[in-house]
Order: sequence, then C-alpha cells, then structure tokens
Amino acid sequence: MNNLVQEVLREYEMLRDKSLKEALMRRQEVYRKIPEISNIDDEIKDIGIEISKSIFLKPQKHKDLLENLRSRLNALKKKKADLLRSNGYPETYMEQKFECNICKDTGYVNNKRCKCFEQKLINLYYRQSSIEDITKIENFSNFDYYLYSDKPYKGKMSPRENMKSIVDVAKDFIDNFDNEKESLFFYGDSGLGKTFLSNCIAKELLDRGKVVLYRTAPDLVEGLRLNKLNSDNDSYYEYTDLLRECDLLIIDDLGTEPITPFSLQEIFSIVNARLLANKKFIISTNLPLSEVMNIYPERLCSRILGNFKLLNFYGEDIRIKRKTIN
Ligand SMILES: [Zn+2]
Repeated sequence: MNNLVQEVLREYEMLRDKSLKEALMRRQEVYRKIPEISNIDDEIKDIGIEISKSIFLKPQKHKDLLENLRSRLNALKKKKADLLRSNGYPETYMEQKFECNICKDTGYVNNKRCKCFEQKLINLYYRQSSIEDITKIENFSNFDYYLYSDKPYKGKMSPRENMKSIVDVAKDFIDNFDNEKESLFFYGDSGLGKTFLSNCIAKELLDRGKVVLYRTAPDLVEGLRLNKLNSDNDSYYEYTDLLRECDLLIIDDLGTEPITPFSLQEIFSIVNARLLANKKFIISTNLPLSEVMNIYPERLCSRILGNFKLLNFYGEDIRIKRKTIN
C-alpha cells in the first residue's frame, strides 16, 4: 500500500508539472499577442513586493498604503481581464488548470487526504482505471430506451416504461446523493442493463468528485479472503478502510460469489458498517428476490429491505439487440 501512496504522490507531481508547463506556454502566447498584458503582469509583481514591504511601516501608514496598493492591484487585474476578453480569451486563460480544484492537485487539504487522493488510491489498488474507461462508453448519454420493448410484459408495464421509472430513481439518487437515505438494489435476469446503469451512476458521481469503488461480489470476497490471510499486514486495514469509506460501493453480481460462512459474514459486516455510517451502495443481482432471501441470513436481508430501494429489471435480454444494432 505504501508503494501505492508513493505512486499517487508521483502522479500528482506529474500532473502539477504538466499543468504548470501548459500555463507558462499560454502565458507566452498571450504576451506575444497582447504585449500590454506583459507590462501589467510586471506591475502586478511590483505591487506584490510593495505589499510585503509595507508590513515594516507604522500601523497607520501601513494601512493607508495597503489600501492604496490593493485598489491599484484590483484595477490592474480588471484591466488584464478586459484585455483578455476583448482579444477572445477567457479571463482565466493564463491560470494553471488543475484536475482537482479542491486540493490543486496536491492530494491534501488542511493536512488531510483530499477525496481525489482516495479515488486515485482505489483506482491504482484495483487497477480500476478501467471504470473510467468503461464509463466513457457506459453513461447516460449512451443510454438507449429503445432497446427495451414498449409492449406490456407479463401483465406489468412495458420494460421501456419500467426502465424509465428506474432511471428516474437513479437520477434522483445522484442529485440527492448527500442527503439520500436509501441505497439501490437492482435485481432481475442478466442482460437487462443492471451493470450498465450502475456505470452510468458511477460516472455521474465520479464527475462530482465522489469516491466510487466497483467490485463484483466474487472479487470482493476473494480480496477480503486474501487480505485476511495476511491480516498482520497493513494492507488488510487499508483494504477494508477503502471498502468502508468510499462514498459509493458498487457490488455487482451478488450471488455469484462462493457462499461460505466467511463470505456471508464479511458481506454482512461491510453492509452493516457502511449503513451505520450512512454510506451508499448499489448492489445488483441476477437472482430473484425470493432466492436472495433464501441464501443470505435474515439480518442481512432485513438491512437490504430496510435501507435499499428495490428495483426490478425485467424484459428480454437487450444484449442481443445491442449486438445486432452495433
Ligand atoms: Zn483533490
């Protein structure tokens, strides 16, 4: 894990170097095209020096001078912004552009790890950068209702209507993520878009700076098993910390993991700990609800029933249609 921390810190360093270089290049470009801005920047720099020198003056003099310098500074900044705009540049064109504006790509805010640090750690730990690749394709802009039939299905509303109502719930979940009390539980046959919709939600939340961890149930249990074998190792705690502390934990394909006393205990303990901390899940399964109730212990089922919105996916396998369309 410590190697991973080092790797993340190196990544930040590279990000900062790159954005700084790019900002310097934009600055050169602006100076070439609008030489007046270069003079303004020199003046701004001089005022900065005068401001720091003014601390050594007597209090009243210091205050008067400071006021004067500040108003000159603001006037210069405004002039610079006007010049940029009138030449077709955004006002912020010369500034360094950070991937994360909260920590300015340092990874830390007030000596604490920034959210983006946790996400980078997760991505590295799980080689999860794939979730970012997947969500480039599997996102709401590629969501296609027409893959779902508009005919009523087994006496229920059409799969398309059903899907629309599920997506409404999903969008609500995203918009109210911080205040939302309930997590999401997707159930229904395979090939109905459960993983696809999980990825759509993951993308929206990743874009909003949330820490998202995606695991299939077998990978989750296997990871916990391997880590428990080395539980003297720090990595066990880091691993369970990440599982417990990420903002959204997606457990895909519940029921495909080997069902053992260990797996049942571990899944319960993660679900329980996260619910107590008011952390959100998306859990999906191909099993019918009755089967879920049979396999998993009552204490887990009652937590799912009490804390999750149960959303039933039904209809015909859309993967076949998707293939013929592509
Ligand atoms: Zn950050």
